[in-house]
Amino acid sequence: MKSFLTFSPTLSNSAATPFSCYFLSHQSIILRKTSRHMLAAKSLQSPNFLSRISVMHSLVNSAKPSNLDRIRSMYTEAASMSGEIHVIVGPMFAGKTTTLLRRIKLESSNGRNVAIIKSNKDTRYALDSIVTHDGEKLPCWPLVDLSSFRQRLGPEAYDKLEVIGIDEAQFFEDLYDFCSKAADHDGKTIIVAGLDGDYLRRSFGGVLDIIPIADSVTKLTARCELCGERAFFTLRKTEETETELIAGAEVYMPVCRKHYVSGQVVKVAARTVLESQKVQCSSIL
Ligand SMILES: [Zn+2]
Repeated sequence: MKSFLTFSPTLSNSAATPFSCYFLSHQSIILRKTSRHMLAAKSLQSPNFLSRISVMHSLVNSAKPSNLDRIRSMYTEAASMSGEIHVIVGPMFAGKTTTLLRRIKLESSNGRNVAIIKSNKDTRYALDSIVTHDGEKLPCWPLVDLSSFRQRLGPEAYDKLEVIGIDEAQFFEDLYDFCSKAADHDGKTIIVAGLDGDYLRRSFGGVLDIIPIADSVTKLTARCELCGERAFFTLRKTEETETELIAGAEVYMPVCRKHYVSGQVVKVAARTVLESQKVQCSSIL
């Protein structure tokens, strides 16, 4: 038999978030989301969250009216700790950085305290600013890893920060740890932009690892440089084989599936021809 106890919005003071708790016979708890600040399902994984729920559960079971204020206060505190993670992926030249900057600017214009981080490996345009392929620019923190950000910014400034943008996220090995802590425990909104795949269409860095903890994922497309159709992949035009080769249009181009496959075939054929010519030249010499 299902028993339930509902806290109506009228129980909440003006600063508290309205919420409803349903207690089922098997002792599990479902929290119904009634505003954007309510706890997301991912927070159920948080040890802190679970311990709070456990305490809340025991308080509710004791059914003392004096406990209701404490429950409401704990719930509001837990809800205020909950941030968000939004992921923007796609091939090169798909507008990932432009989209990231647009979202950061929107958050800033809404009065939120923002900061942008990028990898210090990417020095194509400027070290201390983030620049799109279209030339749009914002100041940023160039870092070797994300774990150093709080220290570099200063703990007080970090605590006041509400939104963190991360560009070229595939270069950060500690992406998952940083994002989960910042969103789950520090209440930050994280907007991540990065390549989901490398030039061989393999998972690139830790970008795909954060999808299970993300609130939203946006996959952008570019235009195929060869046919103008939607491009999902990045083709490397040169022969280098290292995964991290930071370059622009001189090395990479966005392509559709058909031209990615044919482009790889052309590269293999060209390599075979070149190698056979080398053999012929050396035998003549
Ligand atoms: Zn194409």
